[in-house]
Amino acid sequence: MRLPFCIGLTGGVGSGKTSAARIFQELGAAVVDTDEIAHDLTRPGGAAVAAIRSEFGADYVAADGGLDRAKMRRLVFADAVARKKLEAILHPLIRKDSQARIAAAQQPYVLVVVPLLLETGAYRELIGRVLVIDCDEERQIARAMKRSALSSDEVRAIMAAQLPRAKRLAAADDVLHNDADLQALRRQAEALHEKYVALARKASQDASP
Ligand code: ATP
Repeated sequence: MRLPFCIGLTGGVGSGKTSAARIFQELGAAVVDTDEIAHDLTRPGGAAVAAIRSEFGADYVAADGGLDRAKMRRLVFADAVARKKLEAILHPLIRKDSQARIAAAQQPYVLVVVPLLLETGAYRELIGRVLVIDCDEERQIARAMKRSALSSDEVRAIMAAQLPRAKRLAAADDVLHNDADLQALRRQAEALHEKYVALARKASQDASP
């Protein structure tokens, strides 16, 4: 079966991926967010919880039956082997779920949000174009802190484990510059949306017999 035209959206921590994805969704794109899927899989009753319990022990499952996120975050930050084990549980499930959601999309194209798209190379074969969202690093740190309970040192540590800004920009087919307000982000997304609808139409014409 032929999958719909996919754009991969990536960017550093706090760069504005979720905000941009929301705008594209409002404009009419399908959005498949791999972080959101990971979150769903580890909620109470989520498909990854039983495997996490058997690999890491009941201590890593909170009283509500979902993953104890704070505890797991501390573990995988300090222990690379544990991180690999967690990824081995989650990645195939995220992949399967993403693919099913992409295949089911009825919209002209799918925006697939993959924070580490360029770092890991995962999902590249599904993706027709890479869209990078970018802002200067001071703004990025302030926004990441605003969205989460992380300190500036913790945000900097996450940034250090991600691709440097210049390399990410060099790998982009398109860039959203998120240095101003959300209106400015929306204006850029509107222009790209038109372009993506046209590219998706062309891809589907080229593929039809
Ligand atoms: P993470 O990597 O942590 O998942 P993200 O890349 O998805 O983050 P967002 O959650 O979209 O980034 O944005 C981080 C924070 O910055 C949010 O509180 C969001 O509302 C805010 N933000 C994003 N873009 C802008 C903007 N242009 N103007 C003002 N605030 C913004």
